[in-house]
Amino acid sequence: MRQGRWASLIVVCALLVTRASMPAQDSLLPLAPETKYDPAIPTIAKVLGYEHGARITPPEDVHRYLRALADAAPDRVRLVEYARSWQNRPLWLMAIGNRERMARFDALKASRSELADPRQASAADIDRLVRDQPVVTALLHSVHGNEISGVDAALAEAYHLLAATGDAEVDLIMRESIVLIDPMQNPDGRARFIASNTHGHAMRADRDPLAAERDEPWPGGRTNHYLFDLNRDWFPQNHPESQGKVKFMLEWLPQVTVDLHEMGGDGQYYFPPAAAPNTPNTTAAQRTWLTTFGKANAARFDKRGFQYFIREVYDSFYPGYGASWPFFIGSLGKTFEMAGARGLEYRRADGTLLTFRDGVVRHFTAAIQTAATAARNREKLLRDFIDYRRSAVTEGGATEYVLLAGNDPARAERLAQLLVKNGLLVRRVDAPAKLGTRDVAAGSFIVPLAQPMGRLARTLLDAHTSMGEEFIAEQDRRRKLRLPDQIYDITAWSLPALYDVELIVSEKPTGAKTSPYPAANRAPVNLPAAQVGYLIPWGTGMAAAMADVVREGLTVRTAGGGFTIAGRQFGIGTAIVRNEENPANLRERLGRVAAAHGLEVVPIDTAWVDAGLSLGSGTVRLLKAPRVVLVWDAPAQSLSAGWARFSLERRFNQPVTAIRAGSLARANLSDYDVIILPAGSYGTALGEPLLSRVREWTRSGGTLITLGEASRWAATANLLSTSTELRDGRPDRPAAQAATADAPRQSGAEKYDYDAAITPARERPEATSGVIARVKMNLEHWLSSGTDGDVQAMVEGDRVFKPLTLDRGTNVGVYADEATLVASGLVWPEVRRQLARKAFLMHEPLGQGHVVAFAEDPNFRGFTELTQLLLMNAVLFGPVR
Ligand SMILES: [Zn+2]
Repeated sequence: MRQGRWASLIVVCALLVTRASMPAQDSLLPLAPETKYDPAIPTIAKVLGYEHGARITPPEDVHRYLRALADAAPDRVRLVEYARSWQNRPLWLMAIGNRERMARFDALKASRSELADPRQASAADIDRLVRDQPVVTALLHSVHGNEISGVDAALAEAYHLLAATGDAEVDLIMRESIVLIDPMQNPDGRARFIASNTHGHAMRADRDPLAAERDEPWPGGRTNHYLFDLNRDWFPQNHPESQGKVKFMLEWLPQVTVDLHEMGGDGQYYFPPAAAPNTPNTTAAQRTWLTTFGKANAARFDKRGFQYFIREVYDSFYPGYGASWPFFIGSLGKTFEMAGARGLEYRRADGTLLTFRDGVVRHFTAAIQTAATAARNREKLLRDFIDYRRSAVTEGGATEYVLLAGNDPARAERLAQLLVKNGLLVRRVDAPAKLGTRDVAAGSFIVPLAQPMGRLARTLLDAHTSMGEEFIAEQDRRRKLRLPDQIYDITAWSLPALYDVELIVSEKPTGAKTSPYPAANRAPVNLPAAQVGYLIPWGTGMAAAMADVVREGLTVRTAGGGFTIAGRQFGIGTAIVRNEENPANLRERLGRVAAAHGLEVVPIDTAWVDAGLSLGSGTVRLLKAPRVVLVWDAPAQSLSAGWARFSLERRFNQPVTAIRAGSLARANLSDYDVIILPAGSYGTALGEPLLSRVREWTRSGGTLITLGEASRWAATANLLSTSTELRDGRPDRPAAQAATADAPRQSGAEKYDYDAAITPARERPEATSGVIARVKMNLEHWLSSGTDGDVQAMVEGDRVFKPLTLDRGTNVGVYADEATLVASGLVWPEVRRQLARKAFLMHEPLGQGHVVAFAEDPNFRGFTELTQLLLMNAVLFGPVR
């Protein structure tokens, strides 16, 4: 009895849960209205207990269902774990094909490499490839974790391809193609979204746009563990999610690639052709194909009565998107965008209902249609794919891009490694060579453009990539009317500029003695004996090696100035490792560190300097492992906080404690040497008395580092003795606002000027969308260690800082003059004029401590290699200066 009562209660509860989480039955939109399915293939209802789109499937259940499908159809499916996320969740790739092909899966996969470099292929070889190879369609889902319908659409796509019977379209797809389904590109972000969504659940699905279930708390579910946007990480490849993905793309060489997203809930559906500007360096054939596929999608959507738009909003200019990077292997890259319900049901602004299932069905429909279009055009797509790679080789001609080793060979090598990860062929210079009047040192790198992905080499390495004159003219028109621009992302990404590695374009082969890179194994470093010890020039390699130096128990000092010893010049920051203060087996231990980080170690038998700073001088300081706090959570901007954490932890092996802004008041600040404030406006979060404690901590020796918007805030909070500027050069201060807001701009006596009358009284400078600016460094300052005095920085937004006056501090980095300011990207003349010779990196001593302020975010997307070093300089040197 008692037991029976409990049992019936449980049944009632289960029904309530189901009612609450499912839209009304009559609103269920069918996946594929006329398709019959094989009952031997398990439905999602059978495995997970609900229909497609009735629940938001959590990461572990995505695997459970795909596993069940793979087990039910082992002759047509391979389920492969291609990577692990930072939070140790598996990333899956499901390959689906017909029995004949999947029976010889390994041979099929290996044979794809024949498509990779077809330059030696004869016409007969190409005919054979086109006859034998399947077309490969890659369907990649939900790279943004809170764009939820993609993942559930992926489950429906896999089911449909395996279970549909007597369906001519599915038969065509299985006969002509292999479909690669990456169901969930960002499992950590999805898990974060589902947690906040579940905690916000009301009794029934809440349609209110502001309902807690869809109003994500900081940092939201879009990004991965390090709060990076993975749809900007295709070429930087900072994350295992992107590394694994690019690897399988390079192995499988898909002809068609789709990246399925969600946009705001008030939209409908977007598929390409994309908005201007296009991916750089694409071919006419690729652009034509986008129209072919777009029209096929449109026909299907028209048939089902689904609304859509094309050629608006979503461009493909930045090469790190899923909609752009695939073009460079010869594929077609596409973004699909579905209106996002961010829950099961959403009320649009016009009152109409959007359900999660609406998203699942539309994504499913567009994805299957795309696979069908690819299958229908198999031969032509394969032929064009081969032609893309052959024509890239021809187009490259004899041109070679030479990356000079320069003052920090470890940085040039990091760039070479990144190019290799992108599928590019790179050669290392083995012996010094001449290029005209220039010396090419051993350890430089050569990238021949005559290679199948040569267009990617140009796109990543060229100084400028044009957005097209027509597009730029339209943006110029719009900005003058204060209309929002149509620039979707950054306008510059040139890697030699950001790595500060000099690139020389050689129109003919350099003839330098080279070997393939990377070499099979790195030579061990056998340090010679030295009477005094060793010097290591400061740079990204040495900064990243500091954690290992500490682990090996080594004592390292840093030079507070430049010097010349035994005829060689060393810059400020140079690491000094002396025998007398290190263990007896120093050679062995330092050799291990040098090998791991590619360090150049210079033995010295005397400390006698020919010029400059003495090695025993007072400004030679003992380096110690700094204790670092990174302020976390709102009001810090999540991207900036995540970039900083990644840069410190993963790039430089520097441990950090992330403390939420709201808990900082409870921290014992004297336990820490460095506090980093990511971009954000901390006005209310860091009010008095916490602010005065931070000031006191700084005075007693702390190093406070502010990034981007946090530097603007620091200037208003009297931590930094400067201010940002308004468009007309006046300081952007609340007091200034009050003083000028009431001031009449014109008296009645003046001649009426319409243009003056409509000009706002108080405007911030015009925002830049992401450009690379040249910065001049003060080489006498320790913050500039490891640079050659000229660096390039990513600039975005509207921050223009007045330089510090001489009595207050040092402007360690100052933007170059107007004529030379822009290294890459689109900067309007007014901004160019205003930004020139303004402060980029400021150092203001405060008591025993320092305030170090970056005008911009030095860790932008984790690919601004040189400015990341500047942050590390502040972290490592601030506490000992
Ligand atoms: Zn997205």
